Amino acid sequence: MKYRIAFLSALAASFCIAQAEDKPKTETPAMPKPEVVKSDDEWKKLLSVEQYEVTRQRGTERPNGAIYHEFEKQGEGTYYCVCCGAELFTSKEKFHSGCGWPSFYDSSKAKGVLEKVDNGHGMKRIETVCKRCDAHLGHVFEGEGFKTPTDRRFCINGVALKFVPKGGEAPKLLDLDSAAVQQKKDEVAKEGGVEPKK
Ligand SMILES: [Zn+2]
Repeated sequence: MKYRIAFLSALAASFCIAQAEDKPKTETPAMPKPEVVKSDDEWKKLLSVEQYEVTRQRGTERPNGAIYHEFEKQGEGTYYCVCCGAELFTSKEKFHSGCGWPSFYDSSKAKGVLEKVDNGHGMKRIETVCKRCDAHLGHVFEGEGFKTPTDRRFCINGVALKFVPKGGEAPKLLDLDSAAVQQKKDEVAKEGGVEPKK
């Protein structure tokens, strides 16, 4: 009988451990993997020093710089990821926050912006990245009292954005990572070398 009780309590304990271990997994949904994956060297070749520092090294540009003043002057249009060309914001969501960095109250309908918890620098903040290539864009802050439809402030580094005025041509989307590119090429080759129309 003693053995049986010991066995049962051991079983119960292992069950509890299993439960405890399972819990965080169900509460933290896995972040979608970026489609565009490149090495640091590859990014360095594609980007300017400042673009690389901000988007790939999670840097922050100087507030109220030349890029910000350019941003303030821009009219209607769309903002794309400087790394991969994904749509991130439009001028519709732009607002003047006075913080010295480009501010938007929401991402564009394309939903190309991913929000991640950032515990760096002793603060708990929400980092914003490009969903497609994981480029660091900036942070998002909530409940600051801005009279916008969301009361959220996407505080974005201007250097991470490529602006295209309304009616202009969207930048070419950067190819997927090399394995995905090879797969696509194989598919195209199978179909007789003609890229299917989108
Ligand atoms: Zn991107």
